[in-house]
Amino acid sequence: MELSKKNRIILAVSAVLIVAIFAFAYLRDRSRTIDAQTAENLISNSLVSDAVIEGPYLYFKSGGVRYKVPKDAVDLKEVYSKTAVTIVEPNPYLADVITIVILALLVAYLLRWLRKNREIKEQQLSEQIQFASELQKPADIQPIISNITFQDVAGIDEVKEELEEIIDFLKHPRKYLNFGIRMPRGVLLVGPPGVGKTLIAKAVAGEAGVPFFYQSGASFVQIYVGMGAKRVRELFKRAKAMAPAIVFIDEIDAVGKARGGMRNDEREATLNQLLTEMDGFEDSSGIIVIAATNKIEMLDDALLRPGRFDRRVFVSLPNKEERKSILKIYLANKPHYVDLDEIAEMTVGFSGAALSSLVNEAAIHALKNGKKIIEIEDFLAVKDKVLLGKRKILTYSDEEKRIQAVYQAAKAVMAYWHDISFSKIGLLSDHFQHSEKEIVSKSEILNRIKVHLAGDMMMHYHFHEHYTNAANDLKEARLLAQDMVEHYGMGEHFGVDIADVEKILEDARLDVEGFIGRMETGILKLADEILKREIVTKEDVKEILHDLF
Ligand code: ADP
Repeated sequence: MELSKKNRIILAVSAVLIVAIFAFAYLRDRSRTIDAQTAENLISNSLVSDAVIEGPYLYFKSGGVRYKVPKDAVDLKEVYSKTAVTIVEPNPYLADVITIVILALLVAYLLRWLRKNREIKEQQLSEQIQFASELQKPADIQPIISNITFQDVAGIDEVKEELEEIIDFLKHPRKYLNFGIRMPRGVLLVGPPGVGKTLIAKAVAGEAGVPFFYQSGASFVQIYVGMGAKRVRELFKRAKAMAPAIVFIDEIDAVGKARGGMRNDEREATLNQLLTEMDGFEDSSGIIVIAATNKIEMLDDALLRPGRFDRRVFVSLPNKEERKSILKIYLANKPHYVDLDEIAEMTVGFSGAALSSLVNEAAIHALKNGKKIIEIEDFLAVKDKVLLGKRKILTYSDEEKRIQAVYQAAKAVMAYWHDISFSKIGLLSDHFQHSEKEIVSKSEILNRIKVHLAGDMMMHYHFHEHYTNAANDLKEARLLAQDMVEHYGMGEHFGVDIADVEKILEDARLDVEGFIGRMETGILKLADEILKREIVTKEDVKEILHDLF
């Protein structure tokens, strides 16, 4: 047990006192007790000095030795004749007093020690209780030191490139500040669940070697009323203290948009606090907030304004090549004999997370069947199980893949033709960029409507059928047409007229129909390419169309 400083002093003083008392007692009565006869002999035959009468005893010195003898047993007159005698008034209580003082000191010390001991025990207990209750708090604000690097994240080369600069900034903030370069404060990772958004954020922290603060948007708002804003404040306070650092907010839409169960003003307060914190950053604060969402369209506009989450990085479901490299990572330490191409082909629509559990399940399956090596049969056997476990993961039959490819190709060709910019288009995703302009023309909005209609019209034209995969695009087209009429006065009549919305859509449809007829060959060629590669860039679209015309 560690003694406190105060306790050590008390111990030392008591020890000195005890030693002093014993020393005093010892020094005071070092005399040799002798009987009366011996005393008489000494007194009469030799030189006697320093005689003292104290209490019932006579003390005297003779031949360098001090003697003690009961005073009544000797002839005192003889002593007086030899030397001067001092009479000391004895204190009958002295010994008792000393004993009592020592005992009292000992008892006091003992009591004190016991009390201290109890206090320490109580403190330890209360610390334990506090620790336990801290553990029960939802996700405490503690950073982790991430040892994940981009090597652990497969198949997102473009995303890596976009984040390279941020990593460099976190590593060498001075370099950027000296040039007056303002870094983004927030990066929004947009993509469906399980595609590795969290993993990417951790990799940025790992690459830059800075602490990583994880908070889920839901955790801000699931606690008590008024706690959300406080928690945001606390989070940034801690992050600033450890800057440069990364603050990662998963599912930011929970804060960014009102959702069931939570009072609106609570969400509002939390969101405002987040905005205040982000606006309050100095450019040199060295904190970068990375947030993840799979529904950017649900986010509050305030979050997307300049100086907040002004950098967006889209992370889509992995394409075939990317699936291969993810599979490679998870198979690396497992004995296997499989054709990666084959597995990549049968896992269209799998996210990185789903692929990782697929490999795991396949390994378990092989093991259960007493095999030493994982084979394709193991993958086939567990594929459906993995799919059932994961909600909403799409798998496409060959026929569905073909339908989807043709659908996407029609949209891509339409967008290319009407100058709606996009970087790439895939079997499962398209990223049409929003207009950068402040003032958007009626023709541009109409063209966007046509892109949304192109897929469905192509289905009708080529397959003589409509499919449910068009649902989202049809909805978008209608929303745009409604905006045109309701907000921009672009309908035929002044004022809001539903008939105008229908007219815009109908005219666009006819236009698209004609266009699709003329472009069918190009669209089908592009569809083949999408089927083969799952993803094509705008450049690829350009090449394919130019070869045709
Ligand atoms: P999100 O945040 O997008 O929902 P996560 O980052 O939580 O996805 O991904 C869950 C898990 O899936 C990761 O921990 C990792 O094991 C695996 N994973 C997802 N994407 C990838 C990828 N591109 N490379 C390697 N593993 C991945």
